[in-house]
Amino acid sequence: MTASRETESATEPGAAARPVPVPDDLSAPYWAAAAEHRLVLARCSACAAFAIPPDQICPHCHSTTPGFAFEPVSGRGRVRSWTTIRQAFLPGFDRHVPFVLVDVELVEQEELRMVGRLLDGPDAPVRLGASVRAAFEDIAPGVAVPAFVLEGAR
Ligand SMILES: [Zn+2]
Repeated sequence: MTASRETESATEPGAAARPVPVPDDLSAPYWAAAAEHRLVLARCSACAAFAIPPDQICPHCHSTTPGFAFEPVSGRGRVRSWTTIRQAFLPGFDRHVPFVLVDVELVEQEELRMVGRLLDGPDAPVRLGASVRAAFEDIAPGVAVPAFVLEGAR
């Protein structure tokens, strides 16, 4: 789910393009839904727990045949931690710094955590336990990356 490659940016000739996710068989449904601004997560068919990212073995019940199926989730959660990124370590992020990365526990399940960019800007009033909801950044034609925005901050 983390594999990426560099591509030419269609919108900014000459600018370093942001890495674009390259779906594999296991993550394809996740990225296809994200492109439509829907958040879906893999759920184990044996124990019904969500897993981020899905793997060959369920991290909850350790089934070796988890038969993960992707199901829509609310995208709502609470901030467990965050950090402000001030230096771009990946190509294509120079124009985004500084930005805030949040570690979010989704409401669907204890310890179900996603890390993403907080799109409210570097001075957003983020705090522990702040409510957030999923948002999506369109980074290339047909490619969107899940992120978060603060709930009720605007
Ligand atoms: Zn399981």
